[in-house]
Amino acid sequence: MPQIFISHATEDADFARRIAHSMRSASVDAWMAPDSIHPGEDFVDAIQRGLEDTTHLVVIMSPDAVESSWVKLEMNTAIRLERGGKLSIMPISFRACEPPVLWGAYHWLEYEGDYDKLVENLLRWMGVNEARSWIRPAPLEAEELARRQAILEEIALEARACAACPLHLERLNAVPGEGPANARLFFMGESPGPEDDQTGTPFVSAAGDFLGELIDLINLPREEVYLTNILKCRPHQNRDPLVSEMNACSGYLQRQIEVINPRIIVTLGRFALSRVLPDAKISKIHGAPQHTGERIVMPMYHPAAALYRQRYRTILIQDFLKFGDFLDKPENLT
Ligand code: SF4
Repeated sequence: MPQIFISHATEDADFARRIAHSMRSASVDAWMAPDSIHPGEDFVDAIQRGLEDTTHLVVIMSPDAVESSWVKLEMNTAIRLERGGKLSIMPISFRACEPPVLWGAYHWLEYEGDYDKLVENLLRWMGVNEARSWIRPAPLEAEELARRQAILEEIALEARACAACPLHLERLNAVPGEGPANARLFFMGESPGPEDDQTGTPFVSAAGDFLGELIDLINLPREEVYLTNILKCRPHQNRDPLVSEMNACSGYLQRQIEVINPRIIVTLGRFALSRVLPDAKISKIHGAPQHTGERIVMPMYHPAAALYRQRYRTILIQDFLKFGDFLDKPENLT
């Protein structure tokens, strides 16, 4: 069962108690600093011990919390634990609080007065949500699954040996794609990153880590979606793909889509969007599902954009949370 610690400034104690109450009502073990202190125990030791026993930290980040030495202590302790993979951190922007530099790198939930929505997003973040079985990999007969896997492996072998465009001269490894042959969600980015090129595995760079966090927001394990790029080999210096390269490589992508037959294609960045909706502008339709016959296209900005601009990080988080809302309603697929 997830456990949530709610860090807050004294001024926001009522709001913190309200959240704790909502979490407990959803069978989440929620607590705040005063709850955790044993008689005679040092406060700092209690925070350390308590955070070590928890899985999720919510920080009600108000202007008072930014100045609070206790909130800083709790956050800094949590960051150490988070780096060891022991807990997740989610600040909530409360009372028009701007993220301080160190904490600006985390997902922020904006609280704009819709309390039910806030609770819903917190529960989704913790994975306390009904499993959306209909977006998990499709149940298939073993024979059909094996057939699809064999075709994907064939495509991968061809891509690794491909010399159809000049990128084969620069690559260390082609990066065909990764994921279940029966995935219902198909993520396509632009081209492999440097670490992807070194390993032959898609989305293992910093942008890939962030994509993993975004996929967490829709409450799906990353292993249950298919991940690939429109180019299977990396252009040097991360330059934009050329039309000639995308055209040369398009057959692999097309065959992957045909064999996996996903219900939803999530495009990451403008180049990926241009392959499925050539006239669409990502700045106009990001985060808005597009019904295109048998599939739904979900246009998103590329997670790499968020590495350099906080604005894109915020947009991506909001778009993925909206995507989660969309996925909650199976009727959206009809
Ligand atoms: S990018 Fe695509 S077309 Fe170009 S060499 Fe690699 S696999 Fe072949």
